[in-house]
Amino acid sequence: MTKKITILGSTGSIGQSTLDLVRRAGADAFEVIALTANSNVDDLVTQTHEFRPRFIALADVTRGDALRARLSGVDVQIGIGPEAVVEAARIRSDFTMAAIVGAAGLPPTLAAVEQGIHIGLANKECLVCAGELFMHSVRRHGAMLLPVDSEHNAIFQVLERNKPKAVKRFILTASGGPFWQKSLADLRSVSCTDALNHPVWSMGARISVDSATLMNKGFELIEAHYLFDRASEEIDIIVHPQSIVHSMVEYIDGSVLAQMGTPDMRIPIAYALCWPERMEAPVQQLNLAEVSQLTFFEPDLARFPALKHARTAMETGGFAPNILNAADEVAVTAFIGESIKFLQIEEVISRTLEICMSQFPADHDPMVLADVIAVDEQARQTAGKVIASL
Ligand code: NAD
Ligand code: MG
Repeated sequence: MTKKITILGSTGSIGQSTLDLVRRAGADAFEVIALTANSNVDDLVTQTHEFRPRFIALADVTRGDALRARLSGVDVQIGIGPEAVVEAARIRSDFTMAAIVGAAGLPPTLAAVEQGIHIGLANKECLVCAGELFMHSVRRHGAMLLPVDSEHNAIFQVLERNKPKAVKRFILTASGGPFWQKSLADLRSVSCTDALNHPVWSMGARISVDSATLMNKGFELIEAHYLFDRASEEIDIIVHPQSIVHSMVEYIDGSVLAQMGTPDMRIPIAYALCWPERMEAPVQQLNLAEVSQLTFFEPDLARFPALKHARTAMETGGFAPNILNAADEVAVTAFIGESIKFLQIEEVISRTLEICMSQFPADHDPMVLADVIAVDEQARQTAGKVIASL
């Protein structure tokens, strides 16, 4: 049976890899219902010609006319603005890939969840910014979350979900990013080009910088906490530079189950697209003799304090993880725009957290989307002021 699919963020790294698998599987396997992008008109036009979706949405209103002009005479409905992205997510499909980057992915992904369908969850920010609210909506609408983040996909694959008491802990692996062997003194002078040059994975800009600070792993800690309902002390992080072991589950009898594979996001994407079946993916076969060594190291919190901030935010709860994400988005954008240095990313985050946490006490986790968006906005403004003061 043909699976109807929608891709939120189809022009990004995860979006394009998803379409690569869809293309190879053929029109009998998948029918593309809707595609969305932020401002990349060129790629959205090309994808529209190739995959013939019924609806496309572009979030950036300033590019709307350009998109319409390029597609005049083509049989496709076009929506412009952030509301149109949410509208795309509401169109009936069987599977939606949530691959927008940042907190902007939250409203449309929630709209997809409300359909009670299968969701391929790449946008970890949904769980970082509003974990409790998001999981509540997933349960209420009977949606099936299929983690696409490679670590959570690994855990999903090896987790015996019907025996929660048999699980002792999760071990999330981290590649360590491009800088894990650099000293603090070296980190003072690293450039954005260095940060974007990930040794193993090829990804969008924001997650690449987050991998360099290890904030990405911090977000993944929070993601695992909400996704699998595990406490902080049940989730450990270990640096594994080869990125072959994608994560592990330790059971009470001492067994540790790992999922392995070459570092190619098309593996977890294919798993999510087809679950509970499996499909062929055009990935390089894992050759362990060639890899030869799998090494593991304790993460260094002194050089990579992002991990500490993320764990504290998760344990604090309330709006803390939401503020953490907003501060990181603003700081990473400033770093990419070369208005702050690498180590100042952490400074912006810790100062924004300090200021905002006194304004928004962590007495309960937010359960209303409008509150999450309001605090996100406030934290962005604060982070902007912190940057201006540096
Ligand atoms: P990317 O930057 O390559 O692509 C992001 C997509 O989101 C693009 O299609 C862009 O047009 C769209 N977008 C950006 N801002 C938007 C906005 N304001 N409104 C609507 N759409 C917007 O990012 P990516 O690397 O593909 O990552 C996407 C998500 O998947 C992120 O949450 C990331 O953490 C997660 N993820 C990515 C990888 C990876 O290998 N790339 C791995 C694990 C998880
Ligand atoms: Mg990951």
